[in-house]
Amino acid sequence: MNAEQLKQTIDLAYLFGAVCFILAMKLMNSPVTARRGNRLSMLGMAVAIGATFFNPAIRPENLLLIGAAVGVGVVGGLIPAYRVQMTAMPQMVALLNGLGGGAVALVALYEFLDALQKAHVPEPVQRVTTVLSAIIGTISFSGSLIAYGKLQELLPGRAITFKGHGTVNILLGAFTLALAAMILMMGQVTAAAFFALIGLSFVLGISAVLPIGGADMPVVISLLNSFTGCAAGLAGFVLINNSLLIGGALVGASGLILTLLMCRAMNRTLGHVLFSSAGHVLVAGTSTKVAKQPKSYSVEDAAILMSNANRVIVVPGYGMAVAQAQHQVKEMAGKLEAMGVEVIYAVHPVAGRMPGHMNVLLAEADVAYDKLYELEQANPLFPESDVALVIGANDVVNPAARTDPNSPIYGMPILDVDKARTVIVSKRSMNPGFAGIENDLFLNDNTVMVFGNAKTTIGKITAALDNY
Ligand code: NDP
Repeated sequence: MNAEQLKQTIDLAYLFGAVCFILAMKLMNSPVTARRGNRLSMLGMAVAIGATFFNPAIRPENLLLIGAAVGVGVVGGLIPAYRVQMTAMPQMVALLNGLGGGAVALVALYEFLDALQKAHVPEPVQRVTTVLSAIIGTISFSGSLIAYGKLQELLPGRAITFKGHGTVNILLGAFTLALAAMILMMGQVTAAAFFALIGLSFVLGISAVLPIGGADMPVVISLLNSFTGCAAGLAGFVLINNSLLIGGALVGASGLILTLLMCRAMNRTLGHVLFSSAGHVLVAGTSTKVAKQPKSYSVEDAAILMSNANRVIVVPGYGMAVAQAQHQVKEMAGKLEAMGVEVIYAVHPVAGRMPGHMNVLLAEADVAYDKLYELEQANPLFPESDVALVIGANDVVNPAARTDPNSPIYGMPILDVDKARTVIVSKRSMNPGFAGIENDLFLNDNTVMVFGNAKTTIGKITAALDNY
């Protein structure tokens, strides 16, 4: 095979990979076909990586090094992927995403230093894409590390900010852009200038994500994911690699669409999510019902309430995922249905710790899709339902989002469980959820708490239902 034929074959393999990625995204639209979609994207990625090994630009003496790096990556990825709990998946996504951004920034740094050493001034397109991929890749790296720290609870999940934080971020952004413009206009600059650019972008990534807390975190993770995709696409330009370019563009575009959809679901603009918390130091809010104690019910009381209901709306949240209570929930619903009670599920778009988290768990327990109601469909049903059974959900049912303008989640659409005749809440304590804020729902007159691990509680309620 001559050089031209080899290049065409590699490009064909890249095209095959790109088609696999696009078809895979289509398949991932539904939980029924999502696994097939995952497998197809793995195949596309394997073909694209395999074809890259035949690139004549790769020096044979480097093949061993590349193979070793791939080996480290495979082991480093496989072990945590097998071990990770479903509930810790978002942190893992944030970490892997950050590493992707960091890798792109390293590629840009290498290309810059290589050109500097050879005293070669790259074409303008190369210069622009190198600088942009260094900035975006680094921001994505440091920002994702902060997101990881917050989700892994190594850092407080709430907004971390100080007075004047917004101005500091604007200045950091302005310095980064000014330095980038200087590097681009001068053509050849010292390595120190490029390192300074990476340093500024690193600090900017940290400083931009620190003030974002609570319920807005999913949007940020999705946006950083899109950033990494864009940075990888730009690296495709830098390395003149079609596969990287197409793959990066797909991740960048789909990440941005997901970000905007999540913003819409949470009734927020992207600007509000990104900039509203910086410098806004929250004074600890005082609940109007501090002195009030929650009503604690036994599993038997809860069973009686539900067995006498016409309709029970189950509202799952992160706690159901932690307790892995989905199978018990399905079993309980089956018993209630056999007793003539209608059972449906209301799923909030950001319940749990990743988009579609509750849908995946309920699908795993074989809950029929037509029983799953989205927020807009479910909310009109609460006032005419006897029981809302909240299982390990907290922020997504917090009425402060409707009533308290000082609340960090104010404006986010919530499931209106408080409008049901009785609200039964299954959780272990009065501790707050991800956003770290009090929830007055638990103190409402029509709310009863059944304290304990959700799996145990729902299991016991199911057993108690036999008595009624
Ligand atoms: P929350 O994090 O608000 O609340 C979960 C509740 O579950 C806690 O209050 C906890 O209370 C309870 N819980 C934990 N373990 C158990 C257990 N074993 N048994 C029973 N209860 C348990 O969850 P929500 O689903 O209501 O809201 C999701 C939050 O996460 C939102 O703020 C969202 O923005 C954020 N987020 C969502 C992402 C997504 O993509 N979906 C990604 C990142 C963040 P206790 O300790 O008392 O048991």
